[in-house]
Amino acid sequence: MATRDLYGELGVKRTATADEIKKSYRKLARKHHPDVNPGNREAEERFKRISFAYDVLSDAEKRKAYDEFGEEGLQAGFDAGRAREYKRAQESMGSFGGFGTGAGGGTRYSSFEDIFGDIFGGGRGAAPAEHGPDVETTLDIELLDAIRGTTAAVQLTKPSECAVCRGTGGQGSGKACADCRGRGQIKMGGGPMSFGRRCERCGGSGRVPSQPCAACHGRGITEKLEKLNVKIPAGVDDGSRIRLAAKGGAGRGGAPPGDLYIVARVRPHPRLERRDRDLYLQVPITVGEAMHGATIDVPTPDGAVKLKVPPGSQSGSKLRLRGKGVPAMKGGERGDLYVVLQVHVPPDGDERTQEAVRALEASYQGSPRAGFTL
Ligand SMILES: [Zn+2]
Ligand SMILES: [Zn+2]
Repeated sequence: MATRDLYGELGVKRTATADEIKKSYRKLARKHHPDVNPGNREAEERFKRISFAYDVLSDAEKRKAYDEFGEEGLQAGFDAGRAREYKRAQESMGSFGGFGTGAGGGTRYSSFEDIFGDIFGGGRGAAPAEHGPDVETTLDIELLDAIRGTTAAVQLTKPSECAVCRGTGGQGSGKACADCRGRGQIKMGGGPMSFGRRCERCGGSGRVPSQPCAACHGRGITEKLEKLNVKIPAGVDDGSRIRLAAKGGAGRGGAPPGDLYIVARVRPHPRLERRDRDLYLQVPITVGEAMHGATIDVPTPDGAVKLKVPPGSQSGSKLRLRGKGVPAMKGGERGDLYVVLQVHVPPDGDERTQEAVRALEASYQGSPRAGFTL
């Protein structure tokens, strides 16, 4: 998409205040409004561009995204933070796709089209083909799978080409759409603030087949349940967004599909805790191992390793296993695994054990809580 100069559209400087933008918009909108210029195609187009420019520049978030990324920044969901992460991730991920963080639930569509197709999609009877909607879905992943990477089966409902008419929407050379009277868009609101919304029935083309397909009501698109095997890269965090290019909703009239975003929801592990790229694992040891030191087997995401517990270790002591943490998705070093020792006290035993415990008690040099105050 070529980035247009939205400031130029409104005739303001890039440094214009919100008030200046509003004033200029009102003046231009009144002048170019289709109601004031009936049948003037040029004025109508201009009005749409002005409305779009105002919608972006009057919103602090959108304006910031536009300043930073041009119109592409707007396309990534009109969220500057997300767009920035997305851009950064795309640069570092290369062909795989983009990652970012974001909350999400269920499947939703969030393409540029859906949000802004309203305003400037759909010219009179001749809208250019726009790509299908982006689709977002969530996927629950076990922590170990998220650390190691995995392939997951994802099931989702998304707009797909109608199997009955193969996406054509029906038969016949086409007639003017009844909903929009062949205009491709439906007027919303009134006065200088009104704008056109892309017609849902004809998808903005202004034409519908003369014999519409019964299965998809002439849209050429139906919601379909699909199963996909998705590669989950090692290191995904809770909230990571995995982008699968062109796996989103089908486009209408032969337009390319949108993208699919998978938002990872990582399930907590009973023993292993992730903090950033490091992992924390509570490992029980015996009183003897704590006092005398020992070499113990510790499970890690890469398999068991031998770990030296130094003599005189206390409960809560942390031992680091370098590079056994979470792999970095965007380059950088892998995290570490911290083994947190937990001294495990044995059950109260026979007379010999109790005697040993008494001897042990005697070996404390005073109370361990001496001077222990708040
Ligand atoms: Zn159909
Ligand atoms: Zn229509």
